[in-house]
Amino acid sequence: MSSDCGCGCDCKDNDPKECPECGEEGKEVPLKTMINLLDKNKKNEITGEDYHLCMNPDCFISYYSDSKSFTVKDVRQPIWFKKGSKPKIACYCNNISYAEVESAVIEHDLKTWNEIVSAYRDNKICECEKFNPTGECCCSQNFYEVVNQVLESTGKEPVSPEDQCCG
Ligand SMILES: [Zn+2]
Repeated sequence: MSSDCGCGCDCKDNDPKECPECGEEGKEVPLKTMINLLDKNKKNEITGEDYHLCMNPDCFISYYSDSKSFTVKDVRQPIWFKKGSKPKIACYCNNISYAEVESAVIEHDLKTWNEIVSAYRDNKICECEKFNPTGECCCSQNFYEVVNQVLESTGKEPVSPEDQCCG
């Protein structure tokens, strides 16, 4: 059986792997992502295996393979969906937090990824494979979640994701 994710990448048949700590099925991540995000003195512990990211918010494991696992403390950036992650980062490429997205919406009435990133950064970067803990683009998804939460809580109409990070 072959699986095709449709993104044109060289995905192998997905080999689901469970987290050695919590037993939940993780998400495969590119090696490039791990190498960039792991703490400097942990990098030499990476084995030449496939790594997965534990997506369970309550579990302290970040990346793991068959023989090796790293914790959330071994990663240089807080992983936004893990319990207690601080600050909660909405866009890793441009290092923008949930709090910054919120204040852009509340104080400046900005609503799109483009407007909000531009408000904080002169140059917008989009390199999710390198900077996002999952190795995939989920910045825009996180962004619009925050934007719409704020809009709804202030009685305004939610927006649909118009422009996106990697769009
Ligand atoms: Zn886990």
